[in-house]
Amino acid sequence: MGKVPTRLVSWEDIVEWSRGLAIKVRESNYKPDVIIAVARGGFVPARLLCDFLNVENLISIQSQHWTEAAKAAEKAIIKFAYELDLSGKKALLVDDIVDTGESLILARDFILKHWKPAELRIATLQWISPVAKLKPDYYYIEVTEWIWFQYPWTRLEDTFQFMKRMISEEGKHKKVWSYDELVGKFLEWYEIDVGEKYFREAIRLLIEEGILELHDDMYYYRG
Ligand code: ADP
Repeated sequence: MGKVPTRLVSWEDIVEWSRGLAIKVRESNYKPDVIIAVARGGFVPARLLCDFLNVENLISIQSQHWTEAAKAAEKAIIKFAYELDLSGKKALLVDDIVDTGESLILARDFILKHWKPAELRIATLQWISPVAKLKPDYYYIEVTEWIWFQYPWTRLEDTFQFMKRMISEEGKHKKVWSYDELVGKFLEWYEIDVGEKYFREAIRLLIEEGILELHDDMYYYRG
């Protein structure tokens, strides 16, 4: 897989989007007793929704579908499935984005079957309407063309994966890189600037994984 359309999302965006999402929930007069974050992407939005909606109860469920940035794994699974009694409670299931929707569908079905809340609604910051198999009850942004949103909580993971892909593709004809060349090529490929701290961390991981080797300030592709 090569270049993917990518957009950098800031912490400020996340706070604004979460506030906007909370307003939609509030205006619908739904008052959840408990918020359920879908791990891991729903954690930050769920915590912010607790704040904006004044909800004290926050729990989570881990439903995993994607293993690395912009690359689909085989299927979604519930990790650490545990029993819980939510009878009589209104719940709000929160995630960052509905892409295929598979992990969210799995989480929803698990919760309805095993935790049995009185009501369960779904809220996500974003909804990729043309590909999603599920439409959340609340969403802040409808995305009409598929994009990889580079959220602040996966900044290092994504930078590492993107850089790894770029170096292996470019590695067919380029084996030795300076730091500036790596960053320059990354900006050309993905058109997002994650900043020097993240570039340096990602390069450190690439060295740790044996993909790059550092000699005299130059990085050698060993992948
Ligand atoms: P769901 O649609 O239920 O969220 P997916 O399997 O489509 O399930 O996605 C699972 C997780 O992968 C998302 O919650 C998000 O953290 C990450 N993800 C998927 N697609 C994107 C995307 N286009 N941009 C950023 N993150 C994504």
